[in-house]
Amino acid sequence: MNNSNEDWKKCREFHGHECGGLAIGFQAARYARELLQADTSEDEEIVCITENDACGVDAIQVMLSCTAGKGNLLFHMTGKQAFSFYSRRTGKSFRLLLKPHQSASREESLQYYRDSDYHDLFEVMDTRIILPQEARIFQSVECDECHERTAENHIRLENGRKLCPDCFRLYSRPLI
Ligand SMILES: [Zn+2]
Ligand SMILES: [Zn+2]
Repeated sequence: MNNSNEDWKKCREFHGHECGGLAIGFQAARYARELLQADTSEDEEIVCITENDACGVDAIQVMLSCTAGKGNLLFHMTGKQAFSFYSRRTGKSFRLLLKPHQSASREESLQYYRDSDYHDLFEVMDTRIILPQEARIFQSVECDECHERTAENHIRLENGRKLCPDCFRLYSRPLI
């Protein structure tokens, strides 16, 4: 329990407050550590695909070192309290889906998710999404309209002109 108290403190500091949502991510990360037999993700070894962008994602970042900047935290927005984890080293993967629980209040929610045994909180299932390739480096390309540069995978073509997402939207907006 000592280690987990330390971990909870780190999550709370990073997130800025404590709440039931943070506790959900905290418990998912602890479960993932156990199933992956790993403590942290040194680089891109552990990948998390989260299905929401709520409080719990902050705990995943702290506990597993899955971060957006490293490319090993990905969003697949279904709005569900579900997180898929992958180990690139072992090839193991699984999806944790939070079981429904009706909380009477914010305090009760925090207490319930923080103090429950994480094995009871989640359903463990197979992943549905194939693990994407490791973070790729894209060449940068100049937009023909604003002349700002962007990664080539963001460039759109409009009548043969290369446009960044902002200029593409302006150009394609219908006139009313
Ligand atoms: Zn929160
Ligand atoms: Zn542009």
